[in-house]
Amino acid sequence: MQLANYKDIIIIGGGAAGFFAAINIAKENPERSVTILERGKEGLQKVKISGGGRCNVTHAEFMPSELVLNYPRGEKELLGPFHSFMTGDTIAWFEERGVDLKIEEDGRMFPVSNSSQTIIDCFISEAKMYNVEVLYNHSVKTLDARATDFIVQTSQGELTCNKLVIATGSNPKIWKILNDLGHTIVPPVPSLFTFDIKDKRIKDIPGVVAKNVEVKVLGTDLVSEGPLLITHVGMSAPAILKLSAFGAVEFADLNYNFKIEINFIKQDTESCLNHIKALKYTLAKKSVIKSAQFDLPKRLWKQLVLAAGISNSERWADINKQQLEGLADQLTKAVFNVTGKSTFKEEFVTAGGVDLKEVNFKTFESKRIPNLYFAGEVINVDAVTGGFNFQNAWTGAYIVSQSITKT
Ligand SMILES: Cc1cc2nc3c(=O)[nH]c(=O)nc-3n(C[C@H](O)[C@H](O)[C@H](O)COP(=O)(O)OP(=O)(O)OC[C@H]3O[C@@H](n4cnc5c(N)ncnc54)[C@H](O)[C@@H]3O)c2cc1C
Repeated sequence: MQLANYKDIIIIGGGAAGFFAAINIAKENPERSVTILERGKEGLQKVKISGGGRCNVTHAEFMPSELVLNYPRGEKELLGPFHSFMTGDTIAWFEERGVDLKIEEDGRMFPVSNSSQTIIDCFISEAKMYNVEVLYNHSVKTLDARATDFIVQTSQGELTCNKLVIATGSNPKIWKILNDLGHTIVPPVPSLFTFDIKDKRIKDIPGVVAKNVEVKVLGTDLVSEGPLLITHVGMSAPAILKLSAFGAVEFADLNYNFKIEINFIKQDTESCLNHIKALKYTLAKKSVIKSAQFDLPKRLWKQLVLAAGISNSERWADINKQQLEGLADQLTKAVFNVTGKSTFKEEFVTAGGVDLKEVNFKTFESKRIPNLYFAGEVINVDAVTGGFNFQNAWTGAYIVSQSITKT
């Protein structure tokens, strides 16, 4: 006879990965008890606020070798797992449960309802259907790994289980516990943030978007491309967010103080110079400020022209060599000082977590402690924005469910 506080499988964390693992385990193993321990009075809180309340569930990228390129940490390790469960499987999984996803122009995928509540409702009803026990207000305080089982001490008492899944996201207390159990924890740093920049050129033009720029971080090899958005405090959008993810560790080391060089038109300085030199003749009588080139937004063009020392009233015919060169520099290698970071509200994650060397990526089981599994952000995997972070949670959780089912 089993004791009342004995559970077959415990999942710590009632977030994205925790629910996904629990549902899949319970479906395949009706004879085993599956229990989620969630510290909050509700679970799935990040799912709720994700993607601006719409939940960017995954991304329409169907090649594992391409998909992994979106993971600054986890690129190598996720290749195998994505061959087992990736975006197409995620779409099918939700579709089978009546949740249709749609693809937006940039590849992000959302529920057709445009509401994260659809995902939450799906998880809650699936968990109920497969008899997953969800214990809310159960914060895990300590873990003891014994030869044949685990003792889990929660705020509401002690539980014992045979298999343990850690799906606690970026929770420092659980990392500390795992560290005490012998796991290496890569120190956490923020990823996916916007850059704070105080600069005359962008001060008065929040909301302006340059469609396709190149951003280099001076003194490093970091470079990215894509749309750039001027905000009230600096710069955002994929060109910046990708950098913030790939440079997360370096930027933390630099205390978020560094210089970036932006090529607003993705042309070399010389061809840009040739283009604008010709305008001295073709647009001779036109005001420089009023004749935006290279498909740049008019307000951004104006600021770059002023920064090149060309005044409001000057016409193309009036400007000298130095001003032309100054403008070419502003357009192709404008340097900005980054002085801090701000939260990107649509999605932010933490780099760091359980060292990937200590996880078996065929099973997502710990290499240190048998019968201990990980899913989601608790391991040192994180991605750029676009639905890739959830895809990591679904993939890891699914593979955990398959591994546990086989044992
Ligand atoms: C504002 C915001 C928006 C986002 N939007 C997107 C998006 O649209 N698309 C995308 O791909 N990613 C998005 N992300 C990232 C995504 O939410 C995470 O990568 C994902 O939630 C990780 O899932 P997880 O299950 O590992 O962790 P979480 O979802 O964080 O779940 C962990 C759970 O564990 C519980 N827990 C922690 N410690 C304990 C404990 N000691 N005892 C018991 N329970 C505990 C927590 O309460 C929580 O419920 C967003 C993140 C944020 C912050």
